[in-house]
Amino acid sequence: MESAATNRQDASQRGPRRLVVGNWKLHGSLAANAKLLAALAGGGGDCGLAVCVPFPYLAQAQAALQATPVAWGAQDVSAHASGAYTGEVSAQMLAEFGCRYALAGHSERRQMHHESDSEVAAKAAAALVAGVTPILCVGETLAERERGAMHDVVLRQLDAVVAKLGDAIARTVVAYEPVWAIGTGRTATPAQAQEVHALLRKRLREAKAAGVPLLYGGSVKAANAAALFAEHDIDGALVGGASLDANEFLAIAQAGRAAP
Ligand code: PEP
Repeated sequence: MESAATNRQDASQRGPRRLVVGNWKLHGSLAANAKLLAALAGGGGDCGLAVCVPFPYLAQAQAALQATPVAWGAQDVSAHASGAYTGEVSAQMLAEFGCRYALAGHSERRQMHHESDSEVAAKAAAALVAGVTPILCVGETLAERERGAMHDVVLRQLDAVVAKLGDAIARTVVAYEPVWAIGTGRTATPAQAQEVHALLRKRLREAKAAGVPLLYGGSVKAANAAALFAEHDIDGALVGGASLDANEFLAIAQAGRAAP
């Protein structure tokens, strides 16, 4: 439990805004995106809003959103700047398309593409060099939670990036995404999420980066967003499925605007 003074200090470094980021995953078409992006274009307001789209749609997102308050980004980034890395996309390329964000270490990439903590840290470092903010995803599997290893897992994942970035960790965003809650409809309760967010905040404070926005991800929707945002250390959301529905996504942003 942190003291009231520590909480006030963290809050003043964090600022009042919530950040809601959509992760489209492997979804979209030029026609469907055009409708979704047009609907989002006026959204956000006091709540920061962004969408992480598949690479081929970055130009479309840039064209649709560049004159709006809504930011865009990618779902992955190469750890390499250039070279013989077939299929990879560098942070500098993302920057050329105006990306503000790139996800690093989403659990689907850690699991399906066997990305290690050190590769994720290298990706986060490469993003920062190009001026792209990495959104570092951390989270435990159900098996890890059930054997009581969740704290060790998320801290190990965070520490690998802190060790690589040093003070620059302060220029990242961190998303806690329990793997068992992603795309399952099973959300962590606000108290479960807050417990891990408080742990992450403590570690970030030790790294002199208490102001890093901490997003929660895992089956966030309009119906549960307000309760999550009411928690002290939840600064926003990383939203998968619900980000494909403009009304639902904007309603989550609205909950971010209304949050205390
Ligand atoms: C995600 O893809 O990061 C995610 C949290 O997905 P969903 O909201 O669908 O659980």
